[in-house]
Amino acid sequence: MNHSIESFEEHNDEVRLFGNHQNQKFDACFDAVLIANGARSQLRPKAWVKVDQAYPWGAAWSIVPECQVLDSEILHQFYDRSKIMMGILPTGAIPTEPQQRLSSIFWSLPTPKLQNFLQDEQAKQTWLKQVSERWPKVAQWLKEILYNSPTQPKWLSANYRDVVMTQFGQGRIGVIGDAAHAMSPQLGQGANMALLDAWAFSQSLQQAQKNQNIDWPLLWQHYHQLRRSSTQFYQFLSRLLTPLYQSDHWWAGGLRDLVFPWMYQIPYFRKEMAITISGLKTGPFQQLDYERVAQTPKGSSAFHLKNESLSDY
Ligand SMILES: Cc1cc2nc3c(=O)[nH]c(=O)nc-3n(C[C@H](O)[C@H](O)[C@H](O)COP(=O)(O)OP(=O)(O)OC[C@H]3O[C@@H](n4cnc5c(N)ncnc54)[C@H](O)[C@@H]3O)c2cc1C
Repeated sequence: MNHSIESFEEHNDEVRLFGNHQNQKFDACFDAVLIANGARSQLRPKAWVKVDQAYPWGAAWSIVPECQVLDSEILHQFYDRSKIMMGILPTGAIPTEPQQRLSSIFWSLPTPKLQNFLQDEQAKQTWLKQVSERWPKVAQWLKEILYNSPTQPKWLSANYRDVVMTQFGQGRIGVIGDAAHAMSPQLGQGANMALLDAWAFSQSLQQAQKNQNIDWPLLWQHYHQLRRSSTQFYQFLSRLLTPLYQSDHWWAGGLRDLVFPWMYQIPYFRKEMAITISGLKTGPFQQLDYERVAQTPKGSSAFHLKNESLSDY
């Protein structure tokens, strides 16, 4: 933890990492490296990156004391066509104050407008008016937060990226999670995809383990079989559906509100929608077997670190 990795070098039988820890440079050798440093990764091999672009819309978001005016156990999303979208999400608590439950608020905006969100009094008033015209109860709560809280909420900008790679691994280097396949969060699949990457890597490692050695080409062949079609499917769907939730198209919100409730009434589509949201789809008509994914892994780790783990530094 708290180690920042700046670069790495792959050698025949190890990978050397270079980084910083508490203002001290360090380097360390490992059997292999999995790059998992998020959508803006500068570590993923550039030659494998086919697409790396920003989505046109993002969200301003902040973490605040728990919202008491709505059911605090579930995510609430509020839409007016596709131009206005607000979410209020249960967010647990900070470890030192477990009694103080928290909520996240997110407000959809075109990316260029994110930096200036609620910068002055006029902007706050306009925002509250926009919310109160649609959802008065929530606007009242937001007003309390903006004007009567001891501390002003700190607003962060969430910029979404679309990252497509020609491959996820080769030799002793792999890329997983958002670093490998960032997508818009509208489908809520980023965490599922990252967990499935970890599952697929463990499966592939078991397949490629021979005595004390790992057959890396076999490992990545197996990994790509498990993950390529799934990530392609979800990234395609994200690109297709995001404008229905965040865009200036006059027709997008209406189409969404017409089609999705209708699909939900039809058992075939309802089931397909549920499987899609579970992250198990690998194509329009294919899916991973849940029993297989949920199985407890057999055997122990194949990795024998050459040096200490980073936490020992
Ligand atoms: C507004 C928003 C809403 C979302 N909502 C959902 C949702 O509802 N459901 C869902 O499943 N997903 C959602 N996602 C997506 C989800 O957050 C990501 O898909 C998920 O966090 C990806 O996990 P990750 O571990 O790959 O990357 P990250 O969570 O980004 O973690 C990367 C880590 O790497 C560290 N790091 C970066 N650079 C370095 C470096 N050089 N050296 C060392 N460490 C480094 C970072 O500090 C970070 O801890 C949302 C995303 C956003 C922005």
